[in-house]
Amino acid sequence: MKKAWTCDGCHRKGYVGRDPRWIATIELTAAPDPIIAHPADLSKDLEAEIKKLVKQISKIPEQELKDEVHKKFQFTLCRACQKRLLRSPLPIHHRHVRETSRN
Ligand SMILES: [Zn+2]
Repeated sequence: MKKAWTCDGCHRKGYVGRDPRWIATIELTAAPDPIIAHPADLSKDLEAEIKKLVKQISKIPEQELKDEVHKKFQFTLCRACQKRLLRSPLPIHHRHVRETSRN
């Protein structure tokens, strides 16, 4: 009995060993940019600011906080959806698809 799989892009069914499939992995990671403090920030009551931040953060669900830092998605794609992803990996219009960001 052949093992079935379903394309996450178009919901088409395929079978292992008969229909080629691709695994697409997308990772979103917060950029480790430095925080630039302004002189006005240093004159604030830092302890009060930290307590305020901790209170705000404590109200955010744990998974949401984790997702803010790093999130990994994995999709199974059929040939047609793999071709579509190669042409346009982001759901916005680009003139040219680059392998990596210029940033
Ligand atoms: Zn598909």
